[in-house]
Amino acid sequence: MSGQLEGRVALVSGASRGIGYHLAKQLAAQGAHVVAVARTVGGLEELDDEIQKAGSSATLVPLDLTDGPGVDRLGAALHERWGKLDVLVVNAGALGTLSPIGHIEAKTFERTMAINVTSAWRLIRAVDPLLRASDAGRAILLSSGAAHSCKAYWGLYAATKAALEALGRSWAAETQNLPLRVNSVNPGGTRTAMRALAMPGEDPNTLPTPSDVASRILPLAYPSCTETGRLFDVRQNRFMTYHMPD
Ligand code: NDP
Repeated sequence: MSGQLEGRVALVSGASRGIGYHLAKQLAAQGAHVVAVARTVGGLEELDDEIQKAGSSATLVPLDLTDGPGVDRLGAALHERWGKLDVLVVNAGALGTLSPIGHIEAKTFERTMAINVTSAWRLIRAVDPLLRASDAGRAILLSSGAAHSCKAYWGLYAATKAALEALGRSWAAETQNLPLRVNSVNPGGTRTAMRALAMPGEDPNTLPTPSDVASRILPLAYPSCTETGRLFDVRQNRFMTYHMPD
């Protein structure tokens, strides 16, 4: 049986573990050639083994996404090899610190913004022409409920995810007359390293697995996804409506 993404190319940032790892695996199982980006070579190689065992293929890109020129070179390499990109998953992210706003160290603030916002924008900029060249370009940005709940001590992480969603909505507006569809996702609490860091006292067995969460996100990558500029809530399994003035 052929998959939903046969012959398509999908780039996943933060594919070495967690949600990105499982999304990359599931995209490959649907027939996509996956370009897997992260710093940890071991995690990428494990992913590659699993993808190959399932009869699909991947290209591994060990890269720190805060290396802006490196991200630009990745865009150029994709252009050279395929001339297009069908799926972009902006998943790589960092928690930063859970701390009162007044106590956040400048270097922590800047580093977290660099990973969650600046590198996301740089990656988007590098592949925007390639997604536009696809007949069914799909971009999925991993946000968080924190962007909207803005709870005490979550200010830094919340600000980065709100910024990411804002970028995604503007990009969707810029591309609304193209086949390209751009959506953000709130995965909800998921059994990963990042969640364990944020909630050390929590029993991980009470949380959905990254594989379960990835399978809910996967259809946003399909050519059949018609929504754009929206936020998909995994727990509710539906798109949410942004309330905004004209
Ligand atoms: P993990 O911490 O498990 O994985 C994060 C991924 O991002 C890793 O593959 C890591 O790879 C990569 N990454 C981080 N920094 C960099 C960098 N500088 N360069 C390249 N890659 C980097 O996170 P999750 O799977 O939990 O989260 C995935 C996304 O979902 C994130 O954007 C997160 O904010 C969001 N999210 C997660 C929730 C949860 O409960 N887990 C809830 C809400 C949102 P490496 O270290 O190898 O570079």
